[in-house]
Amino acid sequence: MSTAKRALKKYFGYDKFRPLQDEVIQSILEGEDALVIMPTGGGKSLCYQIPALMMEGVAIVVSPLIALMKDQVEGLQANGVKAGFLNSSQSTQVQNEIIEDIHEGKIKLLYVSPEKLVSQEFYYLLLQLKVNLFAVDEAHCISVWGHDFRPEYSKMAYLKKQFPLVPVVALTATADSLTQKDIINQLGLNEPKRFLSSFDRPNLSLKVAPGKDKFKSILGFLRQRPHQSGIIYCLSRKACEGLSEKLRNSGVNASYYHAGLSPEERAKRQEDFINDDIPIICATIAFGMGIDKSNVRWVIHYNLPRNIESYYQEIGRAGRDGLKADTLLFYSFSDVIVHRKFIEESALKEVSNAKLERIQQFCDAQICRRKILLSYFGEHLEEDCGNCDVCKDPPKQFDGTLIAQKALSAIVRLKEQVAAGTVIDVLRGSSRQEVLSKGYDKVKTYGAGKDVPHQDWQQYMLQLLNLGYISVAYDEGNALKLTEQSREVLFGERMVNLVHLASMKSEPTIKPIV
Ligand code: ADP
Ligand code: ZN
Repeated sequence: MSTAKRALKKYFGYDKFRPLQDEVIQSILEGEDALVIMPTGGGKSLCYQIPALMMEGVAIVVSPLIALMKDQVEGLQANGVKAGFLNSSQSTQVQNEIIEDIHEGKIKLLYVSPEKLVSQEFYYLLLQLKVNLFAVDEAHCISVWGHDFRPEYSKMAYLKKQFPLVPVVALTATADSLTQKDIINQLGLNEPKRFLSSFDRPNLSLKVAPGKDKFKSILGFLRQRPHQSGIIYCLSRKACEGLSEKLRNSGVNASYYHAGLSPEERAKRQEDFINDDIPIICATIAFGMGIDKSNVRWVIHYNLPRNIESYYQEIGRAGRDGLKADTLLFYSFSDVIVHRKFIEESALKEVSNAKLERIQQFCDAQICRRKILLSYFGEHLEEDCGNCDVCKDPPKQFDGTLIAQKALSAIVRLKEQVAAGTVIDVLRGSSRQEVLSKGYDKVKTYGAGKDVPHQDWQQYMLQLLNLGYISVAYDEGNALKLTEQSREVLFGERMVNLVHLASMKSEPTIKPIV
């Protein structure tokens, strides 16, 4: 048995590693930086806890979830792991005792808040210690694209500068490619190994429904699922309260949860939900962070989530036990307007708007929803899932390989630096000023898609994006890029099915590129 496996058994009582855990551990032991992306519940913690226990010295774990730090550390201590934590909520005396413990080798894993980590006194402490590893948990918080960005994180690059030989491992459950890039930059990671485990949660059914008669639909949904526990996410505090009251008036045992409640009340409602005393909770996104309840049987989005990451994280709270669970998203344009207003008042307008548009596209799409979600996270699902509303009532499709090849070929010839509108202009042979002045009329695919109307091209591009054959670089003016799968399409090794457009009377006739 390997030493890592022995540690797994000894401290945690498990016999087998989950996918990727062993690989991450080995890479850390070899002193390499790593970026680990695993869905919630995937088992990220062990990836750094085990090497920390196997190496000499102390591992520093940076965690933004200060409220959970104490529980995490006590959980480890109960398993016989020498762990401790430092944060600003502790008295100076307590902090001094812990520092003494570290010096005496009584702590192998030290959990700290980001504030603590970037403080000067902590830097001086680090200089006196033999640090074997820095683990940065919830690393998406480091990215300005992530939703919990805090300024302290931008100072964390000092770790790699001051301690270049100590491996840094960043872990997160939510990271699109843009966020990944940003985490690596912000931490100054040195050619990190990337470990991306599958985000697929096949036990979750996916459904998007128009946002009308929502209350009636929800009552119907609940009637089919008596005694099941679930979460209804709402956009506003008022909506949480109103919906929960309406449900109660209809005889449903529901409560509500949002950041406007006192901390005691919030803790109580969370507890009641976990213990099944309140089976149904109407909540804002404030609910769920760090809640470990395995038997949530469904999640409803009463309103459109602000982006795909949030949506995925929120539906991910259902079916943690691996048993079947259902999700339902109500989509209405009025929610888009509300989000746009929020975005107007925030920083990062451009990216937030692009992400909002992406989830609208997801809702509008007629393509297997799981395919879209997974392609968003850089994964390719070969077959349609059979467990989403689109798969259950599939639209008419046709062989769109040639269309796809033309689009992809234009993207390549435009050096993957051009946004969709211009790619379509080039395909259609537009004589727009910008097209001509940049010399795009000289590229080989110029005019190769004349026979397809502009708005149809837009639909096809969208489908190719949703199918994972195109990706969009939001940080490069929305330039379209190829993906691994799209290269196979270009080389004629893969067929692409596209959905019939409503406007289409027959399949488009499209001439091959000569
Ligand atoms: P994450 O941080 O990715 O959300 P955790 O590290 O909290 O996930 O792990 C989720 C649960 O899975 C924990 O209860 C943990 O003890 C358990 N777990 C992790 N690795 C294994 C394993 N190899 N075998 C069995 N259970 C595991
Ligand atoms: Zn599907």
